[in-house]
Amino acid sequence: MDAQTDLLRVENVSHAFVLGPSAIPALAPVGFTLAEGEFVCIVGTSGSGKSTLLRIIGGLLQPTTGQVWLGKEQITEPHPEIGFVFQKTNLMPWRTARDNVLLPLELLGPIGPQERKRAAALLDLVGLSGFANNYPAQLSGGMAQRLTLARALVRHPRLLLLDEPFGALDALTRERLNLELVRIQTAQQQTVVMVTHSINEAVFLADRVLVLGEQPGRILAQIPVELPRPRSLAVMGSEGFGAIATEIRRHIGLVAE
Ligand code: ADP
Ligand code: MG
Repeated sequence: MDAQTDLLRVENVSHAFVLGPSAIPALAPVGFTLAEGEFVCIVGTSGSGKSTLLRIIGGLLQPTTGQVWLGKEQITEPHPEIGFVFQKTNLMPWRTARDNVLLPLELLGPIGPQERKRAAALLDLVGLSGFANNYPAQLSGGMAQRLTLARALVRHPRLLLLDEPFGALDALTRERLNLELVRIQTAQQQTVVMVTHSINEAVFLADRVLVLGEQPGRILAQIPVELPRPRSLAVMGSEGFGAIATEIRRHIGLVAE
């Protein structure tokens, strides 16, 4: 992973929230790089600064120190080539699934056959082609989250940021969506940074797991996940999977040394 192929560089980024006279350090200086096509998961206990870090990478929050670079461009505000999916879906309730996916394209110009084709392809990619005319209220939680993913992908983002996108869903739906995410990532070689508090989810999805420690958040370890791809759920039962998950738990302090 040399500097030539790095898509994302996070350099010395820290953040303190100013509340009245005091500043609360949420994130200590952290740094890491991400290669094109890499899938990195960030795990850590609640309050370890995961969302703060992701919002800074997405240009939604200014760091107190440090810089974020997407290729040669410094990120200081939301960037059209960075897609975001949060736990909360924020779909427009009065728009159909298709029109929700088209929304980011409408901001760029008129919608023609090309744009409609793109929306249809993405609805297909996330398994919603039969639901293009449904309104968000007519979709299950898992379907709404897949729709949000399609919307985040519609402008071909070079970087996709996911902040606990499946956190509010039941365990079975979550497993299914993880499989879909693996499929989508394989199909498009999409570069992803995903925050999750599920260690199993992180090991299943990622090429590398960043473990954040709290107060203030800092990187405790970067753990490569060298499990073969494509991965099926069966990999979760393997010895290699268990060893990596245990190593992450040890760094978080969930397993005695
Ligand atoms: P995580 O996503 O890992 O749960 P966050 O990044 O949301 O953690 O928060 C990290 C720390 O920053 C926490 O201690 C949290 O209370 C604090 N924090 C987050 N957002 C704000 C805010 N808007 N104002 C003040 N403190 C905040
Ligand atoms: Mg969070």
